[in-house]
Amino acid sequence: MEKRLIVFIDSGDTLIDESTQVYDEKGIVLEAELYEGAKALLKALQREGYRVCLVADGEWDSFKNVYEGNGLRNCFEGWVVSEKVGVQKPERPMFDAAMTAMHLMDVDKQRIVMVGNNLKKDIAGANRYGLVSIWMDWSPRYFHEVEETDWTPDYTVKSPEALMPLLEKLNGQLNI
Ligand SMILES: [Mg+2]
Repeated sequence: MEKRLIVFIDSGDTLIDESTQVYDEKGIVLEAELYEGAKALLKALQREGYRVCLVADGEWDSFKNVYEGNGLRNCFEGWVVSEKVGVQKPERPMFDAAMTAMHLMDVDKQRIVMVGNNLKKDIAGANRYGLVSIWMDWSPRYFHEVEETDWTPDYTVKSPEALMPLLEKLNGQLNI
């Protein structure tokens, strides 16, 4: 059964370990490894009926290569990549594009979570846009200090395994 909670999710250092990325001469990622538990997470989201939209900064072909290569492309209903949008997170058009891709409206924002590793991009972007922000804090890269008040995540998880129980809890609260 479809869940009420909607999941927007980043790729690099949220699902994919950026340190494993293999690039071609044009800077396109040819392949990359998932974080431990990330494949199981995507499969579980799909199995449990969560609608998932990729909201990722980078080149279209990079994400195509990675997620077609690992067979997980069909775990995402929506697919929003900054190269096509023309700006990167935390800019609003990235989130506007995700709303459009998922056929969502302003009234739906309260039931959308944005999951990502980057406080400046994912968390600030979600907070400013009015989404629930979940910080995936398992990469040593990028920001780990809240430098501006709107970088403060609503929730923090330390592993892919920890995300699903949080989503179940938040989804349950929507059904009350
Ligand atoms: Mg990232």
